[in-house]
Amino acid sequence: MISISRYHDISSGHRVVGHENKCSHLHGHNFRVHFTVTAERLDDIGRIIDFSIIKAQLCDWLETHWDHRFLMYEADELRIPLQKIASEDIVSCPFNPTAENMAQYLCEVVGPQQLKGTGCQLIKCTIEETRKCSATYEIS
Ligand SMILES: [Zn+2]
Repeated sequence: MISISRYHDISSGHRVVGHENKCSHLHGHNFRVHFTVTAERLDDIGRIIDFSIIKAQLCDWLETHWDHRFLMYEADELRIPLQKIASEDIVSCPFNPTAENMAQYLCEVVGPQQLKGTGCQLIKCTIEETRKCSATYEIS
């Protein structure tokens, strides 16, 4: 199988509900998000898809929705009080915003929506919280 990858850097806040330690606090990371895309066949000139389309459809989605925002689990008890004072800054997520869940959401929800009609599929997403720590979700 042939695949292509592109990464994008965003700065976002999050809080991990139920975390036993520091990640239960309001804090943020300079996340590096790696997208891996494949297609059933290469196009006429030998590409899966032009890299600029990954930028426009996936990297720009991150810029619009998650960059310089604060990701909060919709069930987080702090979400509603914080949304009252900073509604544009809070992104309500249907998942606890761990790197693992963020990667899964990008592959299962954002990828299919953003790559619709391109003949390509987002098959893997790796999210680095730091240079030392990352999570990967891969569609099997
Ligand atoms: Zn964190």
